[in-house]
Amino acid sequence: MYDTDVFVLGGGPAGLAAAIAARQRGFTVTLADADRPPIDKACGEGLMPDSLAAAAKLGIQIPDDAGHPFRGIRFSGPLSQVEAPFPNGRGRGLRRTVLHPLLVETAAKAGVNMIWGTSVTGVDGHSIRTARETFTSRWIIGADGGQSMVRRWTGLGEISREANRFGFRRHYKIAPWAEYVEIHWGNRCQFYITPTAPDEICLVLMSRDSHLRIDDALPQFPALQQRLAGLTPAGTERGSFAATRRLKRVAEGHVALIGDASGTVDAITGEGLCMAFQQALALADALEAEDLGLYRRAHLSLARRPLFMADFMLLMDRSRLLQRRVLRAFSERPELFARLLATHVGKFNIPQFAATAAALGWEILTA
Ligand SMILES: Cc1cc2nc3c(=O)[nH]c(=O)nc-3n(C[C@H](O)[C@H](O)[C@H](O)COP(=O)(O)OP(=O)(O)OC[C@H]3O[C@@H](n4cnc5c(N)ncnc54)[C@H](O)[C@@H]3O)c2cc1C
Repeated sequence: MYDTDVFVLGGGPAGLAAAIAARQRGFTVTLADADRPPIDKACGEGLMPDSLAAAAKLGIQIPDDAGHPFRGIRFSGPLSQVEAPFPNGRGRGLRRTVLHPLLVETAAKAGVNMIWGTSVTGVDGHSIRTARETFTSRWIIGADGGQSMVRRWTGLGEISREANRFGFRRHYKIAPWAEYVEIHWGNRCQFYITPTAPDEICLVLMSRDSHLRIDDALPQFPALQQRLAGLTPAGTERGSFAATRRLKRVAEGHVALIGDASGTVDAITGEGLCMAFQQALALADALEAEDLGLYRRAHLSLARRPLFMADFMLLMDRSRLLQRRVLRAFSERPELFARLLATHVGKFNIPQFAATAAALGWEILTA
């Protein structure tokens, strides 16, 4: 009856992951993207241990020599610093231009029919229009990123919550100086640094100010500025809207949204790719059961922890006083930071975290 069982609109990480997972369940899958591989994007390029675990479940094999490993997270402020290793393995910094071909290769092996350089111009019922042809599909998956048109075409665009931020990314050719992803906290902006190769780092600036650029913000961070002094950026600076956005509905009838199209968490959490991979697995389960309600519930539950962490980090962004106190409390009680990180990567449950939060609250009050 249909040209394909599943049509995936968008071939970024979320679309490719959804296509791979659906193929693994035996569906015929067609995917279209306006761009061509390898697709680059403004991204911090950090894959947390839980992102790597979800990628492995999808059969995405990341060679040991691709990118660069990191063992945990370091928070750094003007007066204090704290770090902790992940309790569940290492993370990996991987350039998008390295990750994307790996995803495309896995999708090709799984038998996904991929159409590159083809914009989708509309969705109507079970029909998907491109400039060249029209497809029909039993299921339609919108994986067309933060500015999703599928959301609009299918009436899934109602937003329940939104907080805007902006991210700018630049690479530098320099050996990573830390085994951690570093988050440098400044006045209403943060830099985070991911090691992406033995001789390269990825620098991201996050703030609520769309006009604030990397070079404008660096003087606020003299130690970082000194490290980068005299280095020529490798490649161009890329920027992106980086909101925390929740939608009222992520699936209806035969249409489901995934990845940034289905809502986002603040980029500073480094959880965007993890959520996309986990959603892909949950969506394939729901397609198999012919029940997108299962996906809606799984989506909500997968977003809970990253959203909570995003809220916590955005509180630190809003108040300089709170930020100083939190950083001081963490540097005096590094085990609390380690527990927060364990929660972040899914290795600590909510009651365990509540005890940590109470201890942290006490430290902050008395700092
Ligand atoms: C500054 C910044 C830093 C980040 N850092 C991290 C990090 O360190 N770790 C992490 O895990 N996540 C990070 N994220 C989040 C992560 O980048 C996103 O969650 C991820 O890219 C989402 O993938 P996606 O496939 O949903 O969307 P995208 O990567 O945006 O892909 C969407 C695709 O859809 C295609 N498309 C759109 N419209 C159409 C159309 N009409 N027809 C055909 N194709 C179309 C586009 O060409 C594109 O290829 C960061 C995000 C930002 C902004």
